[in-house]
Amino acid sequence: MTQSLTGTGAAHNARPYLHGPEQDALCEALASGQWAHGPVTERFEQELATFLGVPDVVAVASGTTALHLGLLAAGIGEGDEVVVPSFTFCASIQAIRATGAHPRFIDVDPATLCVTAQQVADALTPRTRAVMPVLFGGRAVDLTVLRGALDERGIAVVEDAAHAFGSYQGLRRVGATGDATCFSFDPIKNLTCGEGGALVPCTKAEAQAVRRLRTLGITRPESARTDPSYQVESFGLRAHLPSLHAAIGRVQLRHFATVENARRSLWRAYRTELSGLDGVVLVDVDVDHAVPFNCVARILDGPERRDRLFRTLREAGIGVGVHYPPNHLQPAFAPWRCPLPATEQVAGQVLSLPFHPALTEEDIHRTASALRHALRTCPT
Ligand SMILES: *Cc1c(COP(=O)(O)O)cnc(C)c1O
Repeated sequence: MTQSLTGTGAAHNARPYLHGPEQDALCEALASGQWAHGPVTERFEQELATFLGVPDVVAVASGTTALHLGLLAAGIGEGDEVVVPSFTFCASIQAIRATGAHPRFIDVDPATLCVTAQQVADALTPRTRAVMPVLFGGRAVDLTVLRGALDERGIAVVEDAAHAFGSYQGLRRVGATGDATCFSFDPIKNLTCGEGGALVPCTKAEAQAVRRLRTLGITRPESARTDPSYQVESFGLRAHLPSLHAAIGRVQLRHFATVENARRSLWRAYRTELSGLDGVVLVDVDVDHAVPFNCVARILDGPERRDRLFRTLREAGIGVGVHYPPNHLQPAFAPWRCPLPATEQVAGQVLSLPFHPALTEEDIHRTASALRHALRTCPT
């Protein structure tokens, strides 16, 4: 059952893409009786490592869990401070809170919605124990110039690459650049398992720590087949990636080139369609290196105009969205509120256009026409 391209894809802001063989792979995993962590999960981990060009990948239950366990493995806990952009999905911040640490919110570059190395450097304090760059839209965030300074102060980097599976930083895939990198495989991400996530560890010790954390702190010796006992060695969560999910991910990974090409060419089609549109600027994902996760337009006139366009386009059946309401203004994170002028401005401008691999160029043309029409008819 391959997804049909009926040209109604623009009604969805984002949705998973089925290649077809996922159904058989899932049935096979069901029939095997090994539904939790198992050989299929481990094969998926090896295939991810090969794809990314890294020695090891640890699969976990979700992207949020990958961030949480990545921070724990880096020794982050109560009272620590983690530098993070406010402009991200709230999962990034909740993963920090789950460790007992608190966020130090920073601004982003309005052109990319990503942090710059300078913004990170300016935010470091004596309590900073980690930095969490968010690879918004699939764009790599290069903190190489800070490497020495961060290492010297014992500050870990845990990348939120939930948007960026498959993207490149220079000649390497994101994940292969030396930082702990976290991916999400939730339904709308570049690669999906239904639900799932993965962490690319920096060291063998970190890989071991995350594997222990994801299985309730239990370690099993190699002799587990003959030795019925096991040890609970540390704190842990139940956060493994079930085989049923890994089976879907393995098919998705095998067909990833299709998704990679589709996302790039769809993003470029939007860029062509929207070029020269007055008062509308696309957030730049660096499409030549990224596998774009989304296509976000900035409506420069601000929130009233953006909200009117949002309603008009929704009424026309176009699945626009707003990603994200900034976290530093959320009630849950009020204790760490601080003024972030660029974030507050772009938060009132962003409009996510329908973006997923089953879109057609016709859908994009229709979306762009509807936006042009709405811009002419919506009062400023
Ligand atoms: C999706 C997402 C996450 C969380 O991933 P889940 O797999 O849904 O838990 C974290 N950060 C960002 C930026 C995301 O988009």
